[in-house]
Amino acid sequence: MSSPSPRSPKRAHLEDEGPSRAAKHQKLKENLPDKFKGIKEEKELSSGEDDRYGGRTKIAKLDDTTEDEMTRRVKVANWAGMIKRRRETAGKLSDDRSRMPAASQRGMPNFTGVLCYRIALLQALLHLPLLVNWLLDFVLPEHCVSDNSQECFACVLRLLTVEYWKVPGGVRQVSPVFRAMHGVIKRLGWTETGQADPDEQMLFFFKKMQTELPSSIYGLIESLFQSFWTQQINCHCGTTSLTHGSEIKHTLCLSPRIPDGRLDQYIRRVYREAVPYRCEGCHILKTRPKLRLFHLSAAILCIQLSRCDETGRKITYSVNIPDELDFSNVAHEENKDCLKYKLCAVVQHKGSARGGHYVYIFLKALK
Ligand SMILES: [Zn+2]
Ligand SMILES: [Zn+2]
Repeated sequence: MSSPSPRSPKRAHLEDEGPSRAAKHQKLKENLPDKFKGIKEEKELSSGEDDRYGGRTKIAKLDDTTEDEMTRRVKVANWAGMIKRRRETAGKLSDDRSRMPAASQRGMPNFTGVLCYRIALLQALLHLPLLVNWLLDFVLPEHCVSDNSQECFACVLRLLTVEYWKVPGGVRQVSPVFRAMHGVIKRLGWTETGQADPDEQMLFFFKKMQTELPSSIYGLIESLFQSFWTQQINCHCGTTSLTHGSEIKHTLCLSPRIPDGRLDQYIRRVYREAVPYRCEGCHILKTRPKLRLFHLSAAILCIQLSRCDETGRKITYSVNIPDELDFSNVAHEENKDCLKYKLCAVVQHKGSARGGHYVYIFLKALK
């Protein structure tokens, strides 16, 4: 497989850790921006709204008579320019694994008893060569622009990476840095209310690093995780609505069930499903087929399986996850990236509705 070298961290999602889990999720849903609520609940943001973790901006309606044609062309050109810059940026990072010897792989201490979500996430992240090389080569202390470098998540993540991949490895070596990281994350505003979810934690990490690093350095890692897409909805009246957006994490709703469904079948459904849509031409609200296509595929594709159905109940059936995932049936014709992803990291939740445990599943691809 040619570059980029794709990764697919994924987790089995939403097994309740306690009685207040449903309430917590409802609260999260209310408080979080739309991008975290899953593709099924997407809304279009107003033009110009900056939402780099899942933003979608209406940039063009093909037969829109109210929008100045020149303005539309400028917006499309800006969009194309952004994709080009992202592609160039991502090419600067190395996929070399030589600094990640198998002898160094080890666990991390779950000293509060409820840190499994963070440990599993960090294990998955620290086994991504592109991310590790970025941390070791670019996130240098002299590049830190945090107000207080002692309380900087990016700096402590780099320290953890250095410790983790030292030979010979041992949990004892990693432990002090991991404890220090725990303190930094807490002081940076992450509230501990028992268990949390790895995907929420990951977005928190990204948001912190965005403020702690120069944009030229943060942009490198963002470019690895970010996919850019175009979505098209056609109406029988002849109006075509075109929306562009980007995402660093793809949420797949597993409801309704596809019998013996494979991950690629769920992806295909989500990106091509019918959605309720009010046409801007005829103003009729109707369910219409949506077609979402990727202009730029992330080098590291992060997919979250949302195991919550419409009524809030947990989905327990399994999904077949292939070792290799082909994205070509949801790719735009202009997308010349490698569209085959190799599964390299899985974060899974095990347990019941009353409690559980997150684990990182090591895949032999790294050996
Ligand atoms: Zn720093
Ligand atoms: Zn219409």
